[in-house]
Amino acid sequence: MIVVLRPDLQPAQLEALQSLLARKGLETRLIQGAERQVLAVIGQTPADTRELELLPGVSQVIKVGRPYKLAAREANSQKTSPVTVGPWQIGGPQLVVMAGPCSVESRQGLLDIAAKVKAAGAHILRGGAYKPRSSPYAFQGMGLEGLEILAEARQLYGLPIVTEVVSPAHVDQVAAYTDLFQIGARNMQNYELLKAVAATDKPVLLKRGLSATIEEFLMSAEYVLAGGNGVRVILCERGIRTFEPSTRNTLDLSAIPVIRSLSHLPIIADPSHGTGHRGYVASMALAAVAAGADGLMIEVHPNPPEALSDGAQSLYPHQFEKLMRDVAAVAPVVGRHVGVEFRRPPSPITLTRQGEAKAAYQGEPGAYSERALRQFLGANVEAVPCHSFAETFAKVASGDTQFAVLPMENSLAGSVQPNYDLVLEYPDLSVVGEITLRICHSLIVHPGTRIEQVRRIYAHPQAAAQCEDFLRTHPDWEIFQVYDTAGSVHYIKKHQLRDAAAIAARQVAEQLQLEVLQEGIESHPRNFTRFWILERGGMPVIGADKASVVFDTPDHPGALHQALGKLTEHNINLHRLESRPIAGKPWEYRFFADLQVPEEADRLLQALAALEEFCPFYRLLGVYRAAD
Ligand code: PEP
Ligand code: MN
Repeated sequence: MIVVLRPDLQPAQLEALQSLLARKGLETRLIQGAERQVLAVIGQTPADTRELELLPGVSQVIKVGRPYKLAAREANSQKTSPVTVGPWQIGGPQLVVMAGPCSVESRQGLLDIAAKVKAAGAHILRGGAYKPRSSPYAFQGMGLEGLEILAEARQLYGLPIVTEVVSPAHVDQVAAYTDLFQIGARNMQNYELLKAVAATDKPVLLKRGLSATIEEFLMSAEYVLAGGNGVRVILCERGIRTFEPSTRNTLDLSAIPVIRSLSHLPIIADPSHGTGHRGYVASMALAAVAAGADGLMIEVHPNPPEALSDGAQSLYPHQFEKLMRDVAAVAPVVGRHVGVEFRRPPSPITLTRQGEAKAAYQGEPGAYSERALRQFLGANVEAVPCHSFAETFAKVASGDTQFAVLPMENSLAGSVQPNYDLVLEYPDLSVVGEITLRICHSLIVHPGTRIEQVRRIYAHPQAAAQCEDFLRTHPDWEIFQVYDTAGSVHYIKKHQLRDAAAIAARQVAEQLQLEVLQEGIESHPRNFTRFWILERGGMPVIGADKASVVFDTPDHPGALHQALGKLTEHNINLHRLESRPIAGKPWEYRFFADLQVPEEADRLLQALAALEEFCPFYRLLGVYRAAD
């Protein structure tokens, strides 16, 4: 805290001020400026400084420290402290979506909507049994009966539940049913309620008050943390009251990055209460994901016009389903996923939900391939790192792992050619899926290394190719190839290279406590890598929309034209065609093609049979779901 003193301050006033602060346990240092004097005050800043401002000789009091300690980012070395609710972790790479009606209105209605939100990919079921309504005449909730219905839905659908507690008197009762307490906006500053939930062993979802500042919001979280709840608080931005009447509240999206910078607590967004209008919910949900929210809370009702509360802001089930698909598309752009449960079953990939599968990838932990693997196969799969692409193929081919995840093509640098050649060496392997990942590269150094000190770059050739424009601006840098992006960072760390930088994802720098000098150094931000998921046997995937084949053509004029004609004859759409030289046969080529699977799969089978008959070499690599 800084106390700015008036120019006409008398020495006796200064002495009185210093001794008052000393009685409050604060140390002071007088700093003499050219025009003004200030007192620097050391120690815990009092929450209320108005009294000091009124003292004679004081012109202004400037607070420097933060009044919350446990909720502050500095209190935890982790970027976010994840909170576990049932099988989910809120604050990790998975976005967690809580969905359901505003209130529990009937048993059948709740079971119906629980089934629907679960099928659409929701992770947690919401529903209010005790409702804090603005009007005493409005529906107040079903109380205990509502809690029992929620517990039945959890039992039936395996969805953890979140429900609001409105009074300290209900805390024990609600705790016996819920997986996650909700403290509503109207109760954000009900300190007795905050202390009561803090004394339980359940996590708490704390909603931002209608007119609460971010500091007041974090002070309420501080109450729960200080009450001994451990670090089990999830914040929820649900809109604040502003002068704008077009929406029920103004969803303060900027609170998401602000809270991320101030606190280690996870933060989710509730665009239903944030907008109060179902037409605006999806856009704001996607924006919140893009802004870095750890999850969403969405009101969904089987028949919103009939809802007993908040019908206007509740989505119809089909709108929620569409929103989940859109969230799944946006999430990877910001390094998140909505979880394997969302993938359209059935496919061989669903086997991995049992959590017994192993999958091989090339690189070290933190590699982009590992991230692709986790995003596609889920967190429970054991990821097996391999030194080379060849070893990765060998692992899955020998049955050491069930899957292998391999980069095949990058949107800036082109095909990962060794993998197209390797796949031909393993006729038993099939492509059972693909995933695209946005690749955002950072220039990573030892803490303290400045860009002028960098002489050498350690990078995967693909990463260097994707950052060509940036590297061209530093022609004096010597580039060393490392066959793994994460490995290049491990390398400069292990060898303490202080005049070198590596190119990899920011997350690798964070894992290894190195520093990012510059982020986003790839030549274009739309930089995506497509990975294949390979499995021994394992084809085709039901519901597939893409097929990959490889073939050689006979050696006569027009042979490629004729081969492609087989596809045209059966009206098959060709998405991609790439030629690769055939080893040992100079100037002869092999073609890799991606085809669209038509509605009538028979047409594809006929086209492929014709292609196989015409070509001296032919192999169907896989029939799977396209990533986009
Ligand atoms: C609710 O979630 O239904 C609710 C009452 O929310 P809020 O406290 O944000 O108004
Ligand atoms: Mn509501």
